[in-house]
Amino acid sequence: MALYPKLVRNLFLPLSLWRNGELAQRRYLREFERTQYLSTEAIRELQWQRLRALLHHAYAQCPFYRTRFDHAGMTPDDLRGLEDLRALPILEKRDLQEQCEEMVARNWPRNDLIANQTGGSTGAPVPFYLSKDRKCSRAAATLRHNRWAGWRIGDRAAVIWGAPRDRPADSWRARLRGVLLREPLWLDTANITEASLAKFHTDLLRYQPRIIQAYARSAVLFARYLQAHGLTPHRPYSIITSAEVLEAEERRLLEEVFGCPVFNRYGCREVSVVASECSSHRGLHIMAEGLYLEIETPHGPAAAGEMGTILVTDLLNYAMPLIRYRIGDVGAWASGPCPCGRGLPRLERVAGRVTDFLVGCDGRLVSGVYLATYVVAQRPSLGQVQVLQDKAGAVTYRIKPGRNFNQLRDLEYLRTTTRRYLGAEAEIASEVVQELPAAPSGKFLFSRSTVAPCFLSQRSARSAQGGSRIREG
Ligand SMILES: [Zn+2]
Repeated sequence: MALYPKLVRNLFLPLSLWRNGELAQRRYLREFERTQYLSTEAIRELQWQRLRALLHHAYAQCPFYRTRFDHAGMTPDDLRGLEDLRALPILEKRDLQEQCEEMVARNWPRNDLIANQTGGSTGAPVPFYLSKDRKCSRAAATLRHNRWAGWRIGDRAAVIWGAPRDRPADSWRARLRGVLLREPLWLDTANITEASLAKFHTDLLRYQPRIIQAYARSAVLFARYLQAHGLTPHRPYSIITSAEVLEAEERRLLEEVFGCPVFNRYGCREVSVVASECSSHRGLHIMAEGLYLEIETPHGPAAAGEMGTILVTDLLNYAMPLIRYRIGDVGAWASGPCPCGRGLPRLERVAGRVTDFLVGCDGRLVSGVYLATYVVAQRPSLGQVQVLQDKAGAVTYRIKPGRNFNQLRDLEYLRTTTRRYLGAEAEIASEVVQELPAAPSGKFLFSRSTVAPCFLSQRSARSAQGGSRIREG
């Protein structure tokens, strides 16, 4: 039975990568497997070499960064170490929204630019480009961090995620590729019903995936559903949670229901995986060979344990460099070495976005992450958005408009797309505001719903709203 994963690892996947011109993924994976065990000092030296090369490239090829250096009265040669990067201003999402093209390297072949965009952690859509080489190194980084959770290429997996852009197209070719490469079993968080949860549960028992990867709140919802119905779940080797804040209480619930460890992960669409837990679960190791992270407080760089704004510099995307980019999340450094022996620096914790499920007219659930990514992010002119709900089938959007905001067209877009997910009868209200305040914890509230999902029992519904945890059976 162990033959098939080997076939996928050593034959089907390499063939597929070769066909797509993405063999660099394998080279990066081999490299990252080795460099994770370098000493902390050696990793910092590697980061410095990569940062220096990136700054020279950005200065020579990107009009946006040339101007930034000129305004700061310096050239890349003036930087003597990683700490000196603080002399450059912070890169804001607004800069990407307004000057994305000016950040693209002039010497980069247009046919090697992969366009992407994100809802980001704060609901503000941001366009960006990456090179094919960066696509490969990002995939390799994800594979390495998946290995920490015990999953290797070819192993069975299940995912609880939003579908459209993260899922292969529905052609016969894509389906064949999916079968050969073992595409994971899906629970689509854009439309969760009691029936889809029940089917996913039986599919898991039949398919027996080694890991489950999930939006954090979606995994928790699934666990509560299983508890409420007294169902005995499939026990995977591990669960990887991402995209949303995972509270300590939620982690305990997942570990109890699924009887396996939870590996939390932090990432974003702009730079892919930022940091992941290893099996020591002592904070999250940063993907430091590809990313240089800073944590800034109002009085300078954060000390260990001190929460501050996370800034990321992508060391490997030469198509469109991101230098000191404010992701929109806050986090704190962990101190001391990790028992696992990896030299990669660690985050002690991250506070990202809060995204409740929204309840549709007929009781179906739509993941807040899904709406942020696939509805709001598709419409950059909307700017920053928050969704509030206190009645099933009705939501209120609060909008801090972006550039080119068109009240008539943009609100019509929100009404139409939201009804597609919440139901044709859904009531959509909206208000345009000057500012969307962050929660005191630094978390950004994207969606908040006070409506309890109807297919959880009364008892577990109370628990879902923060009451004491319950034990079924
Ligand atoms: Zn570790």
